[in-house]
Amino acid sequence: MMIIVMKKDATLKQIGGVIKKIEELGLKPHMSEGAEKTIIGVVGDKRKFSEETFAILSGVETTVPILKPFKLASREFKPEKTIVRFNGTEIGGDRIAVIAGPCAIETYDQVLQAAETAKKAGAAILRGGAFKPRTSPYSFQGLGEEGLKILKSVGEKVGLSVVTEVMTPELADLVADYSDILQIGARNMQNFSLLEKVGKMSKPVLLKRGLMSTVEELLMSAEYIMANGNRNVILCERGIRTFEKYTRNTLDLSSVPVIQHMSHLPVIVDPSHATGERYLISPVSLGAVASGADGLMVEIHPDPDSALCDGYQSLPLPEFETMMVKLKHVAESVGRSI
Ligand code: PEP
Ligand code: MN
Repeated sequence: MMIIVMKKDATLKQIGGVIKKIEELGLKPHMSEGAEKTIIGVVGDKRKFSEETFAILSGVETTVPILKPFKLASREFKPEKTIVRFNGTEIGGDRIAVIAGPCAIETYDQVLQAAETAKKAGAAILRGGAFKPRTSPYSFQGLGEEGLKILKSVGEKVGLSVVTEVMTPELADLVADYSDILQIGARNMQNFSLLEKVGKMSKPVLLKRGLMSTVEELLMSAEYIMANGNRNVILCERGIRTFEKYTRNTLDLSSVPVIQHMSHLPVIVDPSHATGERYLISPVSLGAVASGADGLMVEIHPDPDSALCDGYQSLPLPEFETMMVKLKHVAESVGRSI
């Protein structure tokens, strides 16, 4: 891909001229309209154009090839940070977006209790799995559509946006009927047909880093979604597999500033799946916010000991409230709010 940087004072006519040229060559323009300048990305057969092709057009300041394998997700293509906005909520702005809720939706009351605490403590989004990717086929697989209905109605009652996982392309439209954000789980990070499907949809996508994936692979998966048209991608660091045994996964906290250096997309941290231990959730969450994460996704449960999924890593509601008070102080110290 090559990016065409328009002059600060480029007119709409000049921008239109560049787009026309791109289309005449049978290529697709990708627009990035920043506060300062418009940047137009061109992807396609390199034999059809050179830097010269566009450099000579009026209103063009410069043309630069993007050498990284991810293009639309790169900072070169879009220097300003992306703020994903939906349903009165945003991720990537000054406010840290805290997503909280149970691992799996079990009952209306369970979700309601978690949601009321989450709302009161300052969370912006309610989570809960209805279709669960479980290691064992004998484990609880989720309530399916019934779970989606519970999540949506509790979200509306309490005043929180909701997020839940989409496991297959066939389920994506159904999930989108109930959820504000479509979550792609770690195990599906490289399920390319699923990425293409949500890329063609209009709801924001929360893309979790694969268990064994590099940051570059995560950004390439984001690129799949974006190349299909959906620019509203939120990345999530949730720990990767290492030889360490005292934690479920190893949280790669450095991936937060690495991603922010490479990409304009917002990035959040999931301390629950990253550590797998209740006592680690609060310290790791504080570190994530201090490191510049745009949000957190935390598993909470009114009665973790009886949870059908991931109880050992779910925070009891009072512990979540205590953590949120501490988080607010850390957020303020890095110029953010909750
Ligand atoms: C989840 O967030 O519900 C989940 C299953 O996490 P992950 O895909 O990161 O394992
Ligand atoms: Mn879980």
